[in-house]
Amino acid sequence: MTKARQATLAILRDAQEPLCAAAVLERIGVCCDQVTVYRSLHFLEENGLADSFILHCAEHGTERYYTAVDSLKDGYSGHHHWFHCEMCHRFLDLGDCQLHTLVAGYEAAHQITVKSHTLYFTGICADCQIQGH
Ligand SMILES: [Zn+2]
Ligand SMILES: [Zn+2]
Ligand SMILES: [Zn+2]
Repeated sequence: MTKARQATLAILRDAQEPLCAAAVLERIGVCCDQVTVYRSLHFLEENGLADSFILHCAEHGTERYYTAVDSLKDGYSGHHHWFHCEMCHRFLDLGDCQLHTLVAGYEAAHQITVKSHTLYFTGICADCQIQGH
């Protein structure tokens, strides 16, 4: 892997939450330009090292977010699902994907092979709920 790809992967792994390309660019410093960062993210995703989803938030718009993928488990990528708070705009890690049974059911019922899925949740986090009352 090139230095840029390694640096991009390290940033995704260190981050406690999904990052948009601009946030990766901010953290990567002077070593890489925007095009390199986009290419690196694309490479990591193509090779199963990163996962991305497009999230829409009323306040900051529509953006693609990237996360590092742990490893392949039972043929599924070890991705997590995320919750985005509409008030403080933080991400909460909901943990490992729990949808394997559901996906297997879809595959059996429709004779399809599911290779990926995207699912995120939005709402109000515990901290913001307390502040609202
Ligand atoms: Zn919140
Ligand atoms: Zn937001
Ligand atoms: Zn999942």
